[in-house]
Amino acid sequence: MEKLQESIYQLIVETSTNLPNDVRRAIAAAKEKENAGTRAALSLSTISENIQMADEKVSPICQDTGMPTFEIKTPVGVNQIKIKKAIYAAMEQATKDGKLRPNSVDSLTGQNSGNNLGEGTPVIHFSQWEEDVIDVRLILKGGGCENKNIQYSLPAELEGLGRAGRDLDGIRKCIMHSVYQAQGQGCSAGFIGVGIGGDRTTSYSLAKEQLFRTVDDVNPNEDLKKLEDYVMENANKLGIGTMGFGGEATLLGCKVGAMNRLPASFFVSVAYNCWAYRRLGVVLDQQSGDIKEWLYKDGERIDLNDTTEEVAAAAEKKNVREVVLEAPVTEEQIRELKVGDVVIINGMMHTGRDAIHHHLMEHDAPIDLNGQIIYHCGPVMLKDDQGNWHVKAAGPTTSIREEPYQGDIMKKFGIRAVMGKGGMGPKTLKALQEHGGVYLNAIGGAAQYYADCIKAVKGVDLMEFGIPEAMWHLEVEGFAAIVTMDSHGNSLHADVDKSSLEKLAEFKEPVFK
Ligand code: SF4
Repeated sequence: MEKLQESIYQLIVETSTNLPNDVRRAIAAAKEKENAGTRAALSLSTISENIQMADEKVSPICQDTGMPTFEIKTPVGVNQIKIKKAIYAAMEQATKDGKLRPNSVDSLTGQNSGNNLGEGTPVIHFSQWEEDVIDVRLILKGGGCENKNIQYSLPAELEGLGRAGRDLDGIRKCIMHSVYQAQGQGCSAGFIGVGIGGDRTTSYSLAKEQLFRTVDDVNPNEDLKKLEDYVMENANKLGIGTMGFGGEATLLGCKVGAMNRLPASFFVSVAYNCWAYRRLGVVLDQQSGDIKEWLYKDGERIDLNDTTEEVAAAAEKKNVREVVLEAPVTEEQIRELKVGDVVIINGMMHTGRDAIHHHLMEHDAPIDLNGQIIYHCGPVMLKDDQGNWHVKAAGPTTSIREEPYQGDIMKKFGIRAVMGKGGMGPKTLKALQEHGGVYLNAIGGAAQYYADCIKAVKGVDLMEFGIPEAMWHLEVEGFAAIVTMDSHGNSLHADVDKSSLEKLAEFKEPVFK
């Protein structure tokens, strides 16, 4: 049992802190394609540096360590209850060691279990096979990309593409639409798994199962292979790009599976995975629990090691305007900022995500937020023996969830800048214009890169919401983000949405007869 637990612990740590070789190769290929000096190329460079840092520090690649999903094959006669117990113990240990963020929340009370265990967490699927070893595969899929999953029930009317019927061409339209609707918000460049058929539940499961296939795996079904090739060739023409900043690299992999369905139903489900495609596996000795082999480590391993200097050089090449901000920020400083500017933050910023935004609507803030910068982030934090907090991972979370509150809160407390990922909607854009505020887009998933910019944890409030949801007061240096919504009514997100919808419409005509 002890050895089994240790092997599973190693699998969890390695999956959270390292990317499989096929994913590394896909990211390297995307970098090659992206035009040097663009916002998208800058993002890919930051992502690469982050991957390298996580690997070296054995720290989480992204602060959202996702929903752990284990797919396990056991020989007949192996005790699955014992394996489950080993997984629970390993999960708890990995959380304690800061390799996983406490991510399991009671759906009714909002209470975080603190150890990543709870009803339905982690997800564990067992099946039996006739080999004499145990095969354990793990995916850590973050909430930001999970929220971009989508299911279609055919026939359907799709924005930009018209009618999608119950045939291969209808499926093609659904997949193209799924990439469009994600708008890079689940931290593109991404990967999709597609499930055709089944009922609503099994269709989604099939889609997620596809994410266990390697990026270079070739579909044995001719029709599905054709579909995968088509999507890979054309989805990148939508121009959504990394982080939805526009650009060449939107989709890095597409895997499609099909199963039988009821005559009355026709589901197409898409599981969207961000660039932080954390998927690894091990083959275990069934007696000892020892690791006999690592999975997904085949082929060339590419080190994605852009240095900070290279990132800066790329920015210089593009002649991007760089502005330094330090709170308290004035309205005048904000009004000078325009979409496309790179902002470097020094000094204080404060985290706030769903629970804090909800709380601030009805209550006073625990500190004076006038002129301050709010960071949509749920960090991974560890307390040392002296009681001091340390940031282990601190990338941005999806901002659109705060859309109902953001504008009101900025006005109520005098907040000048909010930072997150994926952009916000028209309500916030209007408030930015009226109040004199700005939205900054940090690079989604670059949790190590940003943790490195945090020089001190100056305090924490509202800890009753749990570590990811509490308000952390952070002192930062050289914290870079891009202005994607300014106080003059401009939104890069709205522009990319509009242009990608126009391009999507070019794929309206039937391709597969
Ligand atoms: S990279 Fe983005 S979508 Fe993926 S887990 Fe991190 S924050 Fe979530």
